[in-house]
Amino acid sequence: MKLRKSAILAVSALALAAAAFYAPPVAAQADQPAAAQAAAPKPVIGAWGFDIAGMNTSVKPGDDFSVYAGGNWEKNNPVPADRTRWGTFDMLRAKSEEDQKAVIQEAAARPQTKGSADQKVADMYNSYMDTDQIEKLGLKPIEGDLKAIAKAKTHEDIARLMAEPELGLPGPMGAFKNIDNKNPDRYGIQIVASGLGLPTRDFYLKTEDKFVEIRAKYQAHIEQMLTLAKIAGAKEKAAAILALDTKMAQLHWPQEKNRNRDLTYNPKTQAELKAMAPEYPWDISLRTSGLQNQDFFVVSQVDAVQGLAKLFRETPVETWQAYLQFRYLSGWSDILPKAFDDANFEFYGKFLNGQPQQRDRWKRAVAIVNASVGEAVGQIYVAKHFPADSKAKMNVLVENLKEAYRQRIRTLTWMTEPTKLVALKKVDTLRTKIGYPDKWIDYSALEVKAGDAVGNRKRAARFEWNRDLESLGKPTDRDEWFMTPQTVNAYYNPTFNEIVFPAAILQAPFFDPNADLAVNYGGIGGVIGHEIGHGFDDQGAKSDERGVLRTWWSEEDVARFKVLGDKLAKQYDGYSPLPGLNINGRLALGENIGDLGGLGISYVAYKNATKGQDVPVLDGFTGDQRFFLGWAQVWRSNMREEALRNQILQGPHSPPKYRINGVVPNIDAWYDSFGVKKGAALYIPKDDRVKIW
Ligand SMILES: [Zn+2]
Repeated sequence: MKLRKSAILAVSALALAAAAFYAPPVAAQADQPAAAQAAAPKPVIGAWGFDIAGMNTSVKPGDDFSVYAGGNWEKNNPVPADRTRWGTFDMLRAKSEEDQKAVIQEAAARPQTKGSADQKVADMYNSYMDTDQIEKLGLKPIEGDLKAIAKAKTHEDIARLMAEPELGLPGPMGAFKNIDNKNPDRYGIQIVASGLGLPTRDFYLKTEDKFVEIRAKYQAHIEQMLTLAKIAGAKEKAAAILALDTKMAQLHWPQEKNRNRDLTYNPKTQAELKAMAPEYPWDISLRTSGLQNQDFFVVSQVDAVQGLAKLFRETPVETWQAYLQFRYLSGWSDILPKAFDDANFEFYGKFLNGQPQQRDRWKRAVAIVNASVGEAVGQIYVAKHFPADSKAKMNVLVENLKEAYRQRIRTLTWMTEPTKLVALKKVDTLRTKIGYPDKWIDYSALEVKAGDAVGNRKRAARFEWNRDLESLGKPTDRDEWFMTPQTVNAYYNPTFNEIVFPAAILQAPFFDPNADLAVNYGGIGGVIGHEIGHGFDDQGAKSDERGVLRTWWSEEDVARFKVLGDKLAKQYDGYSPLPGLNINGRLALGENIGDLGGLGISYVAYKNATKGQDVPVLDGFTGDQRFFLGWAQVWRSNMREEALRNQILQGPHSPPKYRINGVVPNIDAWYDSFGVKKGAALYIPKDDRVKIW
């Protein structure tokens, strides 16, 4: 068992996102002197912030809006060999990688004192980059750990290894610090079903040829990794590990059930936890991870955890040893000799995700620095790349979006008045974090050494774990960020009722003060609306204005909300991104409500912002058309088949194409804007369109 950072499950992130920014309408510049006009800054993309050349106008907008808005771009921008997806978001991410690399290299070039942030950033990066040293050391740096696994004799020994924070080993159960969903002022320890080597239970249970092939290759991969480490009996061990994984998968819940915040809230004292699943050696596990004095646990999947505890005890120690050997080698392969790194990439990168080429070492090193001392880089990154006035500009836009939400809530026909009052309060109390945290993580307790990639990873894991341990028992830290500023993403955190936009998502070509207003509202406006929308999606809406998970809706409202959600889920269930593999409408429901509400409400905000104005037609496109094109531009992308399959099964986000084509046909204004009539492929009869917020 191991303590993980609370970000991954606690928040709902916009896995692909992008933006542009609010600007005065083009017409407003007409009164300026000619010289000022000539010097006026231009948008990064095209004349008004949109890539007209990227359109494919041979396709009608009503037949495939995604292709209409970005078909030529898609044709001309294949996925690079070292990636599984390429789109607007990925391009921004590539830029952030370059920027981070420059920050790291400048830190490395400055004169360094031992223990300074510069020294830590530089040595974390350089030790990862030094593949000669890694090759030379061979398996020596991990010899002790492999021996400890080989020496395990009892289930208690196995549980201790799984709980050791520095090793980062998986087990049938995972544990991490989490905000209490029913009391956002305190932390608890979340216990979740865990331990699979393939992405989800589906990969073990599905019977289609593709999944049979995946399992066969997975088993062969396990055998290869064990063989590389000269571990005896690799073939038999690989078969035993796959069989064990499969048994765990049978106990795991389906992904859509894991999303349910009511079913996954099962508070337990330590005594109750032990009594609930007595087969698991909790004492040794909690002591090793430093949780022995904790008395507030929340179990996500009670029956699964009970089953996994039994399975843990029934499975021979030798099988768990093999399981840990493989998972250790796999998890640490990137800082082991090339043969391990290559083998791991061949299976997980190339075969499972469809990525033809390994990423450049420096890009992977940037990711490691980001994951270990990310805020040290972030501090310099924002000073260089985040304009001082961006926060103020974003705040204006967020306020406009909040006002539009208020308007829509007031006029909802399906929600009762008392529930509306709480919903409005929830909009009022929503907190916005923009750019970077007010206080930075202090890395002074973390030691980073030159030439010690393995040791550095262990110490970084220990440092993170200690930070989490120290915060337990104290009030929750509401200023904490779950993403670094250089991350191109955004999130909503239901327990703090907050939306968070890291600096890296708020820059050109997405965050563009010189672009057309309509494109900006379709872009960043839609993204802000999406994140606020998570506060009102099928799960986020279960928290009240203080972030407390409680029933604040009347029964009548819950029933009507469910009908609307079911209708939307059914629509998405009907989309087949791959032959024989449809979107799981229930798994993606929260994200799709976020998109639908977000875009619809950003449209209201756009109309408010242009009220009484004569909005010009630009290059033949009306303001309303440009609004929807702005949204489509944000999501245009190409994806490899394997990555697409994994995304559909893992969720929660619908594939990018459906974040365009699944959303716009539910919005009446889209039909009016493009003159879409019955008979068009995307046409949905008016009564069947879903409007929730
Ligand atoms: Zn989202």
